[in-house]
Amino acid sequence: MGKATGFMEYSREKVGERNPLTRLNDWKEYTVPFSDEKLSIQGARCMDCATPFCHIGMEIQGATSGCPIHNLIPEWNDLVFRGRWKEALDRLLKTNNFPEFTGRVCPAPCEGSCTLAITDPAVTIKNIEQAIIDKGFENGWITPRIPTSRTGKKVAIIGSGPAGLAAADQLNQAGHSVTVFERADRPGGLLMYGIPNMKLEKEVVERRIRLLTQEGIDFITNTEVGKDITAAELQEQFDAVILCTGAQKQRDLVMEGREAKGIHFAMDYLTLSTKSLLDSNFEDGQFINVEGKDVIVIGGGDTGADCVATALRQKCRSVVQFGKHPQLPAERPSDNLWPAYPNVYTMDYAYKEAEAKFGEDPRQYSIQTKKIVADENGNVKELHTIQMEKLKDEEGRYYFKEIPGTEKVWPAQYVFIAIGFEGTEQPLLSQFGVKAVNQKVAAVYGEFKTNVEGVFAAGDARRGQSLIVWAINEGREVAKEVSKYLMV
Ligand SMILES: Cc1cc2nc3c(=O)[nH]c(=O)nc-3n(C[C@H](O)[C@H](O)[C@H](O)COP(=O)(O)OP(=O)(O)OC[C@H]3O[C@@H](n4cnc5c(N)ncnc54)[C@H](O)[C@@H]3O)c2cc1C
Ligand code: SF4
Repeated sequence: MGKATGFMEYSREKVGERNPLTRLNDWKEYTVPFSDEKLSIQGARCMDCATPFCHIGMEIQGATSGCPIHNLIPEWNDLVFRGRWKEALDRLLKTNNFPEFTGRVCPAPCEGSCTLAITDPAVTIKNIEQAIIDKGFENGWITPRIPTSRTGKKVAIIGSGPAGLAAADQLNQAGHSVTVFERADRPGGLLMYGIPNMKLEKEVVERRIRLLTQEGIDFITNTEVGKDITAAELQEQFDAVILCTGAQKQRDLVMEGREAKGIHFAMDYLTLSTKSLLDSNFEDGQFINVEGKDVIVIGGGDTGADCVATALRQKCRSVVQFGKHPQLPAERPSDNLWPAYPNVYTMDYAYKEAEAKFGEDPRQYSIQTKKIVADENGNVKELHTIQMEKLKDEEGRYYFKEIPGTEKVWPAQYVFIAIGFEGTEQPLLSQFGVKAVNQKVAAVYGEFKTNVEGVFAAGDARRGQSLIVWAINEGREVAKEVSKYLMV
């Protein structure tokens, strides 16, 4: 339970961050780990509230509250407070296959529903999680767990993001033979190409892939199922197939001037940047370079923030991020009370960096792009915008209304579209004959089976763009169902 009076004695602290101006000169992780002493104090703040909402893992008001993989948070907080790190690691690994990913990049819905957060700042759960697993690797406690017997059953997993990796890990440990097919040249899904290096260093992802390989999982990269190998071939060669193909079909802007040169999807920008960094430390020039340019990111979410941070590292001349919604309040509003995920204003790493570099937060709120204008060579030159008001109609539904007289012109030589994702790619589903609803694979949570015998689905491909922690949850759960299917 931590220290009985810890929550009254100690204040919340989060891990430190490197100086924003210094970290802009490299692509390393922006955080600085806690000392053991500080971690023990933070663990001591857990008050053993008896009904720990931190691990409920439910959707409340359309957002996640509590940990979706039901991490045994109070137990490991207590063990960290007492310095019993190895036991804390054992507890953590009972529920989470990859704490080194969630401990770094999970938005920590557990902290929003921490009971202490009703009156005080929440326990620093996510940072403690990262420290436990990092210590596990540093001390050599994490070693390959090679299954001692095999069932003779073969499973193909399509997609190596966190859902595919978690399913592969669970099924391999259950003794099945697992092959993961990945279209990209490196496994990891959005952990590898999507989330930038400064949030999650790619060596952390590669280390886990090495471990899974040593444990017996086969990774086949540069192979697109549906093209390089057909659905029918896969069904013939394997006893079960799991679709973990993500939901990376990007939503496009439909607008005058969209065809101008210099307008790219955020994912293309982020993927090329990471690939070039890993392949050649940018020496191959195979990335979109915004050095000395004015950059506009359209879309107010986290993907957009990652574009801002990437543009800053490339030494852009200016960067702004357009969001449709108004700025969030500093405190929870009355319709967003605990234990719902707190919809409050925060400064993400990218925004702190932009503020340090240019003196202001790059976010522009309640703004709508009206048209894009190109120069005589077809290169994007400027964006025309208008401010919007968010209003409620008589039935309580929100809508946006333009505010006349607020038109503005913004210079830009590069524009990145980060307005979300439509769903999973359909051609592969058609080849399998798998049904989709709203561009997501039709498979009920808990069962995960599609309309095609022996074909299952999990992660973003099934639920739409979500979080790593949900992808791990679905990977673990689909593995149970596939194992049952194989062993009847
Ligand atoms: C830029 C960005 C930043 C994000 N940041 C965070 C964050 O900080 N924290 C967080 O919790 N979540 C974050 N997310 C969301 C999170 O990354 C996803 O919810 C999660 O990765 C989904 O996991 P998945 O395994 O279902 O799919 P993905 O990670 O999308 O992996 C799917 C994989 O399938 C492969 N694939 C697709 N079709 C085929 C085929 N036919 N053959 C072979 N391979 C195929 C793809 O190449 C891909 O590697 C972010 C998302 C984006 C886009
Ligand atoms: S995985 Fe995410 S929600 Fe779960 S304990 Fe870790 S930070 Fe919290």
